[in-house]
This record gives sequence, structure tokens and C-alpha cells, in this order.
Amino acid sequence: MMGLGPRKRWGQNFLINRGARERIIEMLDVKDDHVVWEIGPGLGALTSHLVEKTKHLTLFEIDPGYVEYLSLAYEKENPLIVPGDVMKSWKKQYTLEKPDRLIGNLPYNAASAIVSDFIENDSVPPKMVITVQHEMGDRMKAKTGSKNYSSFSILCQYGCKIIDRGVLSAGSFYPAPRVSSKIMELVPAQRTSEAEDSKLFFMLVRDMFLSRRKTLKNNINNACSARFRDFGKDTMYQAFLDEGIKLETRPEKIEVEQYIAVSNRLARVKNN
Ligand code: SAM
Repeated sequence: MMGLGPRKRWGQNFLINRGARERIIEMLDVKDDHVVWEIGPGLGALTSHLVEKTKHLTLFEIDPGYVEYLSLAYEKENPLIVPGDVMKSWKKQYTLEKPDRLIGNLPYNAASAIVSDFIENDSVPPKMVITVQHEMGDRMKAKTGSKNYSSFSILCQYGCKIIDRGVLSAGSFYPAPRVSSKIMELVPAQRTSEAEDSKLFFMLVRDMFLSRRKTLKNNINNACSARFRDFGKDTMYQAFLDEGIKLETRPEKIEVEQYIAVSNRLARVKNN
């Protein structure tokens, strides 16, 4: 077996804090008939607890050395191991089984892309417990108008109720990363309004934050020379104005619900 040392490229920082491992597993609240997915099991810091809790465990691991290690270490429990990049493999697996629980000490370089992918594909499981870099956790739950509020905050809050489960010091991991981490619990959002065209909604939110320091008007103008070309500036201005939003406003001042409402106006224009 080759190369089991931690690799930066795949964000390998092992959770060595035993108390933290136990707390995270507790939060996940696994019942013995649950299908549980773990992203990035590594050398099994969380897996060793999960095999005790359920027989329906699926592991997504990119590092071939770890895949080999895990299949030997858990030969008896025999979890399903899906080798390779989870971003490329989870959707196919999702057609075969829907996870009741999802857990992961996520690789910091892919964490936001992984979370976004589940939300954008409307596949948020009933409960997720993940560890992410402190700053990413803050962005996930950031309130409208705060310095951390971004298109990623809106995406997360559209898809999920975000619960901050506390800080993990850098020393909880080996090798210790530069910054501390956060445990975040995500459950499906209880929305009062729905984006009629969720692709359009996600695109709108991303494009309105392309120049965060600039006004909505500025971002609309840029969007209209790219992905929103088919709508035209006037239609886009009007969609915001009809929601009572001034075009001189900065994108971080707009609530998730307001972005949903604007995108629904645009969706109706698109369909007419
Ligand atoms: N769960 C272990 C722990 O807590 O000690 C390891 C966590 S480590 C932060 C991240 C893990 O994700 C590593 O095992 C790494 O190889 C794996 N990984 C990184 N990128 C991945 C990807 N795109 N798809 C699947 N696994 C990935």
C-alpha cells in the first residue's frame, strides 16, 4: 500500500480529537435503518463510529490508497466504497439510494462546491453534519447585510436551515490547518416561497454578486452582456423595481426571499 501520508492536494487533515468525533456522530443521530453517506472517510476517523451505527454505509473517497486501506480495515462491516471524486459520482449513487444522513470532515478546497452541488440539485438529505473552515461556516449562515453575506450564503439558506454547532480548534486536526473549523448541521429549509426556476435563481444570485462592491444596476448591466443577455437591462431593472428594490442598492442588502421574488418575475418573462 502506497502513500497514506496526508496530502494537501486533497485537503487531507485528519480529525484526531476523539471528543469531537464522538460529538459529531452524536449530532448526526443515526438510526440503524438509515442510509448514511460519508464524504472523504480518509483513514476512518468517523467511519469507525458509523459502522457501529448502521449497515447501510456508503463512503466516497478520492484517494486510491485510502480506498484500499478502508476496504481492508472494514472488510467485516463491508461498507459500499465509491472511489473517485464525489462531485462526479454522487448523482449516480443518488439514483440507487437516497441518504438519510450525510457526514463529512470535508476537504477544505472542495467543501463549498460539494455543499452547493447537493443544494443546486435539490438533493439535501434530512440531516447533514459537516466540518468546514471557520470562515466558510460563517459565510453559510451570514445574515443579510453582514460582511460575510455572499451568493454562497444565499444558496445555503435557500436550500437549508443552517445550524452552527461550534468551533473546532486547528489542533483537533493532523496536520493542523492554519485556521480553525466549524461543525455545521444542515437540514432542508422550510421555505415560505419557492424559486419557480431554481437554475435561473442560482444564476441571478451569482451574477448579482460578481462585483460585490458595486450596485445592483452595475451588476445587472454586466449580467446583460453575458448570461442574462436574453432578458435585456430594462426587464431586469423592472423585476427589481417591482419588488420595491432600488437599483442603487448593493447586492448584500437584499434578502434571500427578495432574490426569490425577483427571479420568479424573470422566470415568468422567460416563459411568456
Ligand atoms: N474523514 C477523515 C477524518 O476526519 O480524519 C478525513 C478527512 S480529510 C479533511 C478529507 C478527505 O476527503 C480525505 O480523505 C480526502 O482524500 C478526501 N477527498 C478530498 N477530495 C475529495 C473528493 N473530491 N471526492 C472524494 N473524497 C475527497
